[in-house]
Parts: sequence; structure tokens; C-alpha cells
Amino acid sequence: MKVVVIGAGLGGLALAQRLVKAGVDVEVHERDSAVEARFQGYRIGFAPEGMRALQGAVPERLHPLLEAVSGLVEGSGRAVDPQLNVLGEKERDDDEGRLYDRNVLRHLLIAGLGDRLRFDRKLDRYEELADGSVRAHFADGSTVDADVLVGADGMGSAVRRQLLPDIAVHDMPVYGAIGRTPIAGFEHLIPGWSTVVSAKNVQLMLGRMVFQRPPVQAAKELAPDVTLPDTPSYIRWVLLLPGTPKTLDLQPVLDLMADWHPDLKALIAKADTNNSGVSPIKEGDAIEPWPTRAVTLLGDAGHPAPPGGLGANLAMIDAQVLADKLIGATDKLEALAAYEKTMCENAATGRAAAAEAFRNFARLRADA
Ligand SMILES: Cc1cc2nc3c(=O)[nH]c(=O)nc-3n(C[C@H](O)[C@H](O)[C@H](O)COP(=O)(O)OP(=O)(O)OC[C@H]3O[C@@H](n4cnc5c(N)ncnc54)[C@H](O)[C@@H]3O)c2cc1C
Repeated sequence: MKVVVIGAGLGGLALAQRLVKAGVDVEVHERDSAVEARFQGYRIGFAPEGMRALQGAVPERLHPLLEAVSGLVEGSGRAVDPQLNVLGEKERDDDEGRLYDRNVLRHLLIAGLGDRLRFDRKLDRYEELADGSVRAHFADGSTVDADVLVGADGMGSAVRRQLLPDIAVHDMPVYGAIGRTPIAGFEHLIPGWSTVVSAKNVQLMLGRMVFQRPPVQAAKELAPDVTLPDTPSYIRWVLLLPGTPKTLDLQPVLDLMADWHPDLKALIAKADTNNSGVSPIKEGDAIEPWPTRAVTLLGDAGHPAPPGGLGANLAMIDAQVLADKLIGATDKLEALAAYEKTMCENAATGRAAAAEAFRNFARLRADA
């Protein structure tokens, strides 16, 4: 069986790693020209189930490296007002989850894929062939045939737009300014694993990304053949603001924070602007099983949900379920149907979690 994966995000790479391990013929086609072609580096939190699925995708020899470059989930989450007065605290029920920098994790998931991973390969459309296989058509005019085509091409998925054209993705009435600031001097702002600063029209979410060991050093010592980016520990911040700006201009953000605590203003003013940007917050329609064919969806492509929820966790779980169903399958459509049923059930859970997170923000705003 030949599997062609569209998109080298976390989900597509995790699936490829699992299929390679099982000896399945797999190729990943990514539209970007290189792994770091765009801003990629925000922090992602994995809960225990997502973490186990991630570990299952990473080759065992790299598990010590996977642990070394993680951040620990320690202490409480807290809500504060713009003067840093504590409004509430919440202990986590578990400390088994881990935090990752998305860019570092992506480098780790690329390790060993070699020329199975192709860059500069933007999918335009696919074509279902009479023999039940699928032909992927790329923007450069080339094509590749597959027994199974997996759209792991993110929220705006070209595969989903063709497969399920009725599923729409729309902007929410807020946008996110997303950035990071080196943590030195700002540790006190996040005594636990996260801090939310809540004001009337603005929420600022702060998260620690403190690597247990610096990624470059850890790779050198634990897996010298793996190249990891030289990323220092940082505070990831996300501002949820009303409206839809096109570019990140920190001045209007700082203006909104004019009477905030000086340390919070300094945090934003000292942002690493190369790794900061603005992004609309989008969500997609709910997804339900569709008549199965040799084309399927994985991760955000299958269940487009706003950031900060369970998206990466679900992408890891999708990759696990899809690989388990495909490996050794005698009937690919039966395997895909079983996967899609589970994927849609998990997507509904993820949607509910994202909606709850946004309701909590609305509540914080009302209380502020
Ligand atoms: C600020 C922020 C914080 C987040 N925090 C968390 C968190 O704490 N926990 C969590 O679980 N999730 C979190 N998420 C969500 C998580 O990042 C996503 O759900 C996850 O990365 C989705 O992975 P994916 O592989 O499905 O898609 P993506 O990572 O979006 O990858 C899709 C890939 O497909 C490529 N592509 C797109 N179109 C094409 C095409 N036509 N042809 C070829 N390639 C294409 C893209 O370039 C990209 O590389 C966060 C998201 C953001 C933005």
C-alpha cells in the first residue's frame, strides 16, 4: 500500500513516522519551501493521552531527546488582573503532560524521514482513478499516485475543500496576537504553568516554555544526527482582541495596556518580533462521517478548531488511530471507515473543549 500525506505539520509527520516504522510506503508533500519557511514556534501543551500518542510516533531511540526538550507542567494555572492581583488559581489534576515548542517538535518528527519528505509541493487538487487509487496534482504541474491520500494540510485544507465542500471555516469575532519573549527577567509572571491576565476587552494568556535542556545541546549529546533549532526558553503570549487586523503592530496593543503593570508592558515590548504575528481565530463546522473513499483527513484538516485547545493532541491521536487501522489492512476502505468514525467522535470532544475554553475567557472578561 502506498500512502501519500499532504502537509508536514505535526499530524502528517506523526503519521509518516508510524507508517515508516511499520514498513509502509509513505511520502509527505509540504507546500512550504523548508521546515522553517514560516513562523512556526509557539508552545503546545500535550495532555497524557496526546503525549502517549506523540511518544508512539517518535522513534524509540529518540525518546530521551523527546523528554529532554520538553517543558514540565508544574504548579497551578492562575488568573490575574492587569495589576497582577490574583483573581483565581487552578491546580492541574495531572503532571504527566508535557510542553513543546512546535518548531523543535517538528524538527524531531522529521528525523529519519529522508527523501520521503518533499518540500515545495503544494497540492492543488486530487483525482479519484477508476482502479480505486488517487492521483495528487501539485501546483508545479507534477502528480503522484497513491492507494490512500491523507489530507493533513491544516485548517485551510485543500483536500477537505474538495472532499467535504460543505464544511466551512469562519473567523471568530476575536483575533490573536501571538508572540514570544525570552523568559529571563519575567519568570515571576508565571509561577505555575500558565497565567491569564483578564481585562474588559483584552485577555493576555502567558505560558512558560522552559526546555529541560537547551535543544541544540540535548541533540548534540543524545542524538547527534538530529538537527534541532537553537531556541532559548521563552514566555509564549497570546492576546485575544476584538477585530481583524492584518499585521502585528505592537503599538496599538501597548496602547490598550497603557494602565497595566509595567512588567506586563515590558514583556510585550521586548517580544521577539521575528517569532510573533497576528492571526485570525478560526473555527470550522462540526464534522460527521462521510461516504468513505480512498481520501481521508487528519488533524486540523479534519476538525478545524481554534488554537489553544486540543488540536495538536487530536492530531497525534488521529495519526495513531489511522496508522493502526491501515497497517496490515486487507480492505483499505473498511480501515478508513473505522478511522473516520473514531476521528469524528474525537473531533466532537475537541470542539466541546475549545468551546468551553472560549466560554471561560468570556466569563473572565465579564468578571474583570
Ligand atoms: C498559538 C497556538 C497555540 C496552540 N496551542 C495548542 C496547545 O496547547 N495544544 C494543542 O493540542 N494544540 C494547540 N494548538 C493547535 C495546534 O497547533 C494544531 O491543532 C496542530 O498543529 C494541527 O496540526 P496539523 O498537522 O493538523 O496541521 P498544521 O500544523 O497546520 O500543518 C499543516 C501543514 O500542511 C501544509 N499545507 C497546507 N496546505 C497545503 C497544500 N495545499 N499542499 C501541501 N501542504 C500544505 C502547511 O504548510 C502545514 O505545514 C495551538 C495553535 C496555535 C496557533
